[in-house]
Amino acid sequence: MHLTRPIGRPTDPGSAGQLFALVRGGIASTRRELIEVTGLSRSTVAARVDALLAAGLLRETSGQAAGRGRPALALSFDESFGHIVVAGLHPDRADLAVLDLGGRVLERREYPVTIADGPDRVLTEVENRVGTLLAEVGADASDTVALGVGLPGPVDVELGRVIAPPVMPGWHDFPVRERLAARLGVPVLVENDANLMALGEQRTNWPGARTVLLVKVGTGIGAGIVIDGRLYRGVDGGAGDIGHIRMLGHDDPCACGSLGCLGAVASGTALIRRLAAAGKPVRHVEDLRALVQRGDADTVAALRHAGQLAGEVLTTVISVLNPEIVVVAGGLVDTANTQGHYVTGLREVIYQRSLPRATRNLRVVTGTLGRQASVVGTAALVVDQLFTPAAVDALLAARVSCAP
Ligand SMILES: [Zn+2]
Repeated sequence: MHLTRPIGRPTDPGSAGQLFALVRGGIASTRRELIEVTGLSRSTVAARVDALLAAGLLRETSGQAAGRGRPALALSFDESFGHIVVAGLHPDRADLAVLDLGGRVLERREYPVTIADGPDRVLTEVENRVGTLLAEVGADASDTVALGVGLPGPVDVELGRVIAPPVMPGWHDFPVRERLAARLGVPVLVENDANLMALGEQRTNWPGARTVLLVKVGTGIGAGIVIDGRLYRGVDGGAGDIGHIRMLGHDDPCACGSLGCLGAVASGTALIRRLAAAGKPVRHVEDLRALVQRGDADTVAALRHAGQLAGEVLTTVISVLNPEIVVVAGGLVDTANTQGHYVTGLREVIYQRSLPRATRNLRVVTGTLGRQASVVGTAALVVDQLFTPAAVDALLAARVSCAP
């Protein structure tokens, strides 16, 4: 799984950091191409590439011969420069993973945690587990470039905090980023989990798509938006928070205190409540899988109906956003769990209710990464933010000033 993609030409493609961006973005892969793209002299490019090689940010390997003559040496991002630790926090579990900078998962573990226990207990557990996991992988803690944290609530990424989450008691405004950075001694990024899943699916499966909307359907409902390869978060991280859009004609109580929210009528939690009230043996989303596999007609009908309700809200979202790809993902729609009945209902309504103009170039697909989506997305986000041209230039400058 490669996270590299075209990231556009820098406006002033001159510094070492900008040459690095051209290589990582796939725009140039040899010294000759860097000279052509930037217009810099051969000696300037050589000096800057050598600095990037010496820092371990790029590597140079024998490429393919272009026609006659010696094969050109190919430059690429050295993904072994360091590693990333990811902590994905969910209502009932934590996913911890160690990845290289290319997004390859070196190790991944799931642990039971209860997010409703509040930030202190949950983050203490994460801090203890991260050290153990790094030791098991044989990774040196000093090579950790960052910890990326996914949280199931609205995140203000500037503050590194969750703001007014409906289902995370005690987490509002808690300094998640500062706490973890202080305890673990690494840079920390905090992001909403639907956003991370959106980025993971986009980078892996739809790298060329201009606009990707990911709808996460699990215990709740949320969405992430990726435009031109970048997350769209809105003014303070609330973009894509579709789970609390009011549904006309419904009055199911929602965890946010309102009535008839999409998440209260069409999420896993809503389905479980409805089916359990009808006498079905369901307590968790996983229990739905057994009922679907047994061909339980009521469960299949309930899944499809819930998909149709989500489709109603999505029809509006699609009109506003005009996406190219809608990825439906999460525990309730993973094909292995519920065999696509939810997505069938969702597709029916989207294609019936939308104007032909809105669905002409639209594809509604099921996510392929499962629980790995947010892990892959977190790694992509960390690399994007940590290896900007300015950050790379600063890193090289620090090396020079530290040299004996
Ligand atoms: Zn609500």
